[in-house]
Amino acid sequence: MLFLLTILPFTACNQAAKKPQSEEKTINVPFFSVDSAYGFVKKQVDFGPRVPNTAAHVACSQYLSSELKRFGAQVIEQKADLTAFDGTILKAVNIIGSFNPAAETRILLFAHWDSRPWADHDPKPENRKKPVMAANDGASGVGVLLEMARLFGQNKPTVGVDIIFFDAEDYGAPESFSGQSAEDSWCLGTQYWAKNPHIPGYTARYGILLDMVGAPQATFYREQSSDYYAGSVVTKVWSQAQSLGFANYFINQKGGAITDDHIYVNQIMGIPSIDIIQYDPNSGSGFGTYWHTTSDTMDNVDKNTLNAVGTTLMHVIYNER
Ligand SMILES: [Zn+2]
Repeated sequence: MLFLLTILPFTACNQAAKKPQSEEKTINVPFFSVDSAYGFVKKQVDFGPRVPNTAAHVACSQYLSSELKRFGAQVIEQKADLTAFDGTILKAVNIIGSFNPAAETRILLFAHWDSRPWADHDPKPENRKKPVMAANDGASGVGVLLEMARLFGQNKPTVGVDIIFFDAEDYGAPESFSGQSAEDSWCLGTQYWAKNPHIPGYTARYGILLDMVGAPQATFYREQSSDYYAGSVVTKVWSQAQSLGFANYFINQKGGAITDDHIYVNQIMGIPSIDIIQYDPNSGSGFGTYWHTTSDTMDNVDKNTLNAVGTTLMHVIYNER
């Protein structure tokens, strides 16, 4: 064994020296397995709605953090008691998984993992107090990122990558709430992290948020705040998608302006961050018809859409130097 170990570096150097220059520039992007990503989405849904302060929420948080550890990430569970618009104290957990933790150049990838407690946009009034299963609005983004984490563990990208699953994004005041509620009642986990980052002084080259990235034939437009804070990152991601043949998903046109986790990462942390979020210019809400209804189930998760997003982001990350 000792002998082998001492000759290996020499052999490796020798081979590297013989490589033609063009070969060194070839970037091998690991294959994004959509079956695996789909499985990660389904697994979360199988816990039931991941509403803060429920057993399903606790069980799913443990699952997410153990998966990130299994893939070789350095994991931090950031726990906090967050106060919702109605005074409820939410036992929240932001789950942070870091790859290449020592690398100075870092990319931040994030999604919210909690489920909305009320399907307040359900067409049937009797369903509006039921929780949302959040297959799309939660689990889809996390599922894509878990598959990417699995691949990062096998084949480290050049840059450092931090994946954050934010909690308590979707506990914002419902339509029926008559009390005073601010726009800031959403994205509580992200607001907390942005004011208390897991590493003091944390920063990243840019951030990408995934939200509702699994619906059949979903369309992702250039979200307006993303363009305002990080237009070059939007262009980078949308061009990459286009070159991979996903232009029918990533529409290179102006979309809506959405209050989402990326706003606080931009405004408080100063990390230029974009939101890949389904936008339907023809629907009343701008989102899919399943949004904040009891129909946000696995029936509305499509492998082709997950693949378009996951494959695009794999190319974006592995092209970073
Ligand atoms: Zn939502």
